[in-house]
Amino acid sequence: MKPQNPSLTAPQVKGLVQMIGLTRDREFNCSECLEHVSEYAEHQMTGQELDAAIACIEQHLKLCPECREEYEALLKILRAGA
Ligand SMILES: [Zn+2]
Repeated sequence: MKPQNPSLTAPQVKGLVQMIGLTRDREFNCSECLEHVSEYAEHQMTGQELDAAIACIEQHLKLCPECREEYEALLKILRAGA
């Protein structure tokens, strides 16, 4: 059977995007993110340079609204306590 349409259809693209999302999630999941999110928040507060592990959190926070919420709550706490 030869492919009828060489270009990707919208559902195929969606599938690929989901696949990439899942791969990322496996590499760096929410529990790992939450483990380091306070560290990341402190880095943001002090303006220190991020190491590779912390930089992953930045990436994850962009993709994951749940962790971002957690991060923003932490930032508030840090700012209030500073
Ligand atoms: Zn997450």
